Formats: sequence, structure tokens, C-alpha cells
Amino acid sequence: MNSAFALDITTMEISRTTPDTMPPDYPLPEILDSLVELTAQRERKTLEISLLTTLRELMPNCTVALYNCRWIDGHPWWRIQLDHPDQEPLPNQPWTLPNSKILRILQQQDERQPVYQTETGLCVPLYQINQVVAVLMVTPNHDTDIDHTLLLALARIHENFLNLLHASDSDTLTGLNNRRKFDSQLYTLVASQHPELPRLPFLALLDIDHFKRVNDNYGHIIGDEVLLMLAQRMQQFFGEEDGLYRYGGEEFAILFRAVSAEKAQAILEGFCERISNQPFPQVGQVTVSIGFTRLDQSFVPSQVIDRADKALYHSKTNGRNQVNQFEALQQQGFVNEVAVASGDIDLF
Ligand code: GH3
Ligand code: MG
Ligand code: MG
Repeated sequence: MNSAFALDITTMEISRTTPDTMPPDYPLPEILDSLVELTAQRERKTLEISLLTTLRELMPNCTVALYNCRWIDGHPWWRIQLDHPDQEPLPNQPWTLPNSKILRILQQQDERQPVYQTETGLCVPLYQINQVVAVLMVTPNHDTDIDHTLLLALARIHENFLNLLHASDSDTLTGLNNRRKFDSQLYTLVASQHPELPRLPFLALLDIDHFKRVNDNYGHIIGDEVLLMLAQRMQQFFGEEDGLYRYGGEEFAILFRAVSAEKAQAILEGFCERISNQPFPQVGQVTVSIGFTRLDQSFVPSQVIDRADKALYHSKTNGRNQVNQFEALQQQGFVNEVAVASGDIDLF
């Protein structure tokens, strides 16, 4: 950016110093307000809405759309994420392969540029660790000049924040979401007033069986590799919409939806079986135990975790390498509900 800000210390007013070459003045207070709004976001979706709102306000003669990218076996797929910040976010669109021009941009086949000209307008790729993760497509409505400086500055701010969010939400060893992200997602799900029927939400807690033996027999580094490989198998098995988290140590959490508890049980049993049937390099067979529970708005997050944990404990003490649901165990009298006193949990 070749503009600068100046502070008048007698009046404490901020103004922008604009070189002669700059395009017509931007509304500075609005830009600052937009930056404050953008940088206050902690969730990717709200960050995206903020970015589009800002671009639309500052470039009223352009249409702006945001696409997200996903890499599968080295190929970039994309889908439109947001094209109108005031409307409800678009329901998830199918991932498609972009046309050849966009494909070249995403795969960085040509010399890398901050902004590319396409048939309809401009394309600004956003990167995470050298890989394109999102794309801004800007189309002028009339014969309007697009302000590249402003567009690129906002794109870079958005990109920086995407990277910060990713770093604060990810587990460094496995790349899954971390405990911080889990806590916030579980809270949102439990508090949600939109249950997305007919698919019900469930929480599963998964713990590797006898993992201490892996460390003792093969060393900590191989132990880490098992954790990483298990996380990769979780990503391959579960759907894109399912939330996968490293809960801590050799424990993982899954937030997912299924049409019934029976279906949820079958999905988790399928995963248990897959793990025990596919030997891990160097260590051979690894098994996991799982406990799960239905998410219900009448429970607080810690109560939901306690339920899944009790079901997991039952799987451990009942032979490992198996799946149990809290509600089914409760009906059979194997587990008891935890007591809740005025929003707090009384552990006993
Ligand atoms: P159980 O079937 O009852 O779950 O037995 P377990 O051996 O899996 O459980 P235990 O709690 O006794 O041991 C868990 C082990 O996981 C101990 C700890 O050293 C190991 N662990 C936790 N985090 C990590 C990690 O990040 N890397 C490695 N390599 N090991 C870890
Ligand atoms: Mg454990
Ligand atoms: Mg364990």
C-alpha cells in the first residue's frame, strides 16, 4: 500500500496522507471501522461475512464472491461459500473442479501473482502454508475500475486472520481441531436452536487401547506416528461435515450427525472395525474404545462430555475395542446420570 496515516497530536484526529498517484480518496473512518470489525472475529464464517460486507461497502460497483478450496490427492476443488453477506450463508454447495484458467491459478502453474485477471473480473487467491485455501472473485458491474490496492490489502488481512485462526484451532501433531475449538463448537451445538432435523447431533469420545504399551515397546516417536495415522484414518472415514478433534493425549472427540442412535452406533462400530482390521506400520494391530451420547439442548456441555466419558469408561472396562452409547447403558442400569445444580456440575 502506498498510502499512510497521520495523527494530528493537537486535535488527535487521524487522516490519510495520499500521494498524488493514489486513486480518489477512500472513506477512512469506514475503512477503520471495517478493520476493527474484521479483526474482532474468532470464527471463520463470521470472518468471511465481515470481509464480504467490507468489500461490498467499499466497492459498491462490484460483485464479490468468496470460494473455498479443498485439496484432494493434489487436486484443488472449490465451492462458492458466500456471495451476499446480508443473506443467510449459502447451504453447503457441492465441491467442483474449477475451469482450466482457475485451475492453473490454484495450482500455481504460472508465475505467482497477488491478483489475476479472468474473463469476468479479478481473482485473488488466499494462501495457507503456500497452498490456496480460498479465492475472492471480484466482478465489476459496469465499466468500473477496481481499486487493486484496497482489494489486495483487505485480502491480505483476511488471509492473515485465516492463518491465525487455523493456528489457534489446530492440534500441532495431528492437524485435527484442538481442544479449544472443541469446547467452542460443543457449546455452540448444545446452545443451537436449529437442530437440523431429521439428523440428530451426537458426541463420541474415542480412546486408544493400551497406548502406553505402544510407547513402552516402540518409543514415543512411533507413538506419535500412531496418533498421526489414526487422525488421518479418522479424516478418511468420517464426512467433511463431521467435527474431528484431538481432545488430549491419545483421546479424540467426534461431533457428528446421524438419523438415529442405531445409525450412530453402526457408524462408530464401522470405524472401530476399520482400525482394528488395518494394522499400523511397525506396531501392528491398534484398537480403540468409544463412548457416545446424544446432544440435547437441555444439557450443559460438561454434562454431555461426562455422559460420553461414562460410556467410554464402560467400553474400557467391558473388554475394549467396542462402542457404547450412554442412553442405552442408562436404560440397562449400567450408568447413572450426573447431578446438575443450578447450571454447575456436582461431580461425585
Ligand atoms: P487404556 O486402554 O486404558 O486407555 O490404556 P492406555 O495405556 O491407553 O492408557 P493410559 O492412560 O495408561 O496411557 C496413555 C498413554 O498415552 C500415556 C502417555 O504417555 C501417552 N500419550 C499421551 N499423549 C501422547 C503423545 O502426544 N504422544 C505419545 N507418543 N504418547 C502420548
Ligand atoms: Mg486415555
Ligand atoms: Mg488409552
